[in-house]
Amino acid sequence: MTRSSASPTSVRFRFRLVRASEEAPSGRRHNGTADEKSLQLGSESWDLVDLAAVEQDGARLLLLLQPSQQPPLTITISISKIDPSDLKHHLDVQRTRLRAEHARAQLTTPQERARFRQIVCPACDVTVDLTPFPETPQMLCPCCETLVTIQSNVVPPENEADFRLCETCGMFSRPRHFRSFYFYYLVVHSGIHTHRSKRCRGCMRSASWKMLAGNFFFVIGVIPALIQLTRAYRKERDAGVYRGLESANQWARRGKLTKAIEGYHEILQRVPCAAGIYYNLGMALYKQHDLAHAASVLELALNDCANYTPACQLLEQCYRQSGDVEKLETLQSH
Ligand SMILES: [Zn+2]
Ligand SMILES: [Zn+2]
Repeated sequence: MTRSSASPTSVRFRFRLVRASEEAPSGRRHNGTADEKSLQLGSESWDLVDLAAVEQDGARLLLLLQPSQQPPLTITISISKIDPSDLKHHLDVQRTRLRAEHARAQLTTPQERARFRQIVCPACDVTVDLTPFPETPQMLCPCCETLVTIQSNVVPPENEADFRLCETCGMFSRPRHFRSFYFYYLVVHSGIHTHRSKRCRGCMRSASWKMLAGNFFFVIGVIPALIQLTRAYRKERDAGVYRGLESANQWARRGKLTKAIEGYHEILQRVPCAAGIYYNLGMALYKQHDLAHAASVLELALNDCANYTPACQLLEQCYRQSGDVEKLETLQSH
């Protein structure tokens, strides 16, 4: 996901409140505005510095607010008139910028100020506060989930923002949009079930074969299944320095680790900082119950990207399961 760096100064939208006790939005529509500092929801106004998180679920945005001197609260709104992801993007860009400024203003000593590090994600423009983490060549953007190369003397891969964890298998890969399509026929009722997701090539392949099998008796669903199969098996043309990643991931998924390591090793020769590659290898080793090697590889992932949460969580599991309390405590104290 790459967005233009110019974020609009204000966004106008229409919204309905979704109350916690209700499934659907109720009441009438109101006007909403979000500018560089505040969010106006009908007659209520909130400072964007107090907006701790924004989660999107279709047309709905869940806002987590932490106003000072007041208990935290959540508000769910159903958005119309504009694309809800545009509003989420605007809110994320502005709130992270304001919260980073606020955090810097709280620092009192010169040492604290010297340690303060904030980086604007080149893929989505949100400000990421990296102060709690040691300096590493990459960072994970918590909003767009891109692993961004930030070390100044390393040239980042051109298509870096295309790579992230697959929603289905959890591997670092290049997920694309995938639309599953099932035609069903019951004696009294027939219909179509579709679902959109983002998946890596390996997951597209297995889902496409399932779609073909599921639609086999109903000609109507066979064609979409064949289209998705063609997409899933099309030769990879522009993976750039990450070429070979999908096949290495396939080997890792099948437990053929020697082949997978060969593939990952080739990529690592082209990509000097690659926390995602180490993460995949760590996950494959973990699934084979090789905790010691999994931990060593995941440590390499964190050496490349200190705030890479998925690698950190898996490393915690490895330490916990192998009873390495000392390393677990050190990891958790960061
Ligand atoms: Zn980002
Ligand atoms: Zn996948």
